[in-house]
Amino acid sequence: MSSTVAFVGLGHMGGPMAANLVRAGYRVLGHDLVPEAVAAAAGAGVRPAASAAEAAAGADVVVSMLPAGRHVLALYDDILAAARPATLFVDCSTIDVADARTAHDRALAAGMRALDAPVSGGVVGAEAATLTFMAGGAEPEFAEARPLLEAMGRKAVHCGGAGAGQAAKICNNMILGISMIAVSEAFVLGESLGLSHQALYDVASTASGQCWALSVNCPVPGPVPASPANRDYRPGFAASLMAKDLALAAGAIRAGEVDAELGLRAAELYAAYAEHATDTEDFSGIVRTIRDRSGIKERSGGERP
Ligand code: NAD
Repeated sequence: MSSTVAFVGLGHMGGPMAANLVRAGYRVLGHDLVPEAVAAAAGAGVRPAASAAEAAAGADVVVSMLPAGRHVLALYDDILAAARPATLFVDCSTIDVADARTAHDRALAAGMRALDAPVSGGVVGAEAATLTFMAGGAEPEFAEARPLLEAMGRKAVHCGGAGAGQAAKICNNMILGISMIAVSEAFVLGESLGLSHQALYDVASTASGQCWALSVNCPVPGPVPASPANRDYRPGFAASLMAKDLALAAGAIRAGEVDAELGLRAAELYAAYAEHATDTEDFSGIVRTIRDRSGIKERSGGERP
């Protein structure tokens, strides 16, 4: 195993991911711009580095977990010259496919190796080391990174060349965003028709309407007790993150001139919803905006309107 990992970006996701690498026996040099994030990671055994370049200089692998593409590209510009030749750069952030490919190109031009490896599973998955990684890059790099990824997650899928991991991430989340809107609209339509939440759930969850947005993350309280709807939509997968991922999908749809009307509409609906949602509100809370816009009162029991 590569023994020393530089971990840059110790936020909600990166902090627990770095801690899991420490638990798996890696020596982890961590850096974040926020001192509190570094202090929390240090409590889990991550060794603070004075700068990202200092961390990279002493590492076999550099893992980044940053907000957006511009942060990743700025980081690479900052640290590529400091890293040892052929260091493996693994970016786990969710970023634009084009930015991911640019990051790969810059790493390779500097004599490094690179993978994009965004994740699914959220903060809960980061803490429990049950994330799913979707990786883009060459096969030898994926094979080398696999044990490291498996120390932070349950599954790692090699999706293809540079950017393929990000492509898989935004395509998956486009399915999720569209299907959550579809399930939410169906529940509100059911309310307007006097259909109880439980009756619609009992039918659709075992019929052709079945999907994760319905059977695991059900947007109305009751049918699935563990879904965020039962906890006033907290915590969960933040609406703002869904809006971010759909904006990335919309950018790719436009760039590729793909006729994906629902993906574009889902991006608009989530952008509008996220503007008013709190930081921790689960994306399934969009059902409330659909109900409000419809002027319908929630009727979970199937009362006749
Ligand atoms: P976060 O804002 O909690 O963490 C990002 C961290 O990066 C912050 O601590 C910030 O200070 C640090 N940072 C920014 N620029 C830096 C730099 N130049 N050098 C060092 N540190 C820097 O965000 P998060 O929730 O951890 O998400 C990280 C990435 O993971 C995002 O791309 C997000 O879309 C993706 N993601 C998040 C979730 C989730 O549920 N939170 C799920 C899947 C994917």
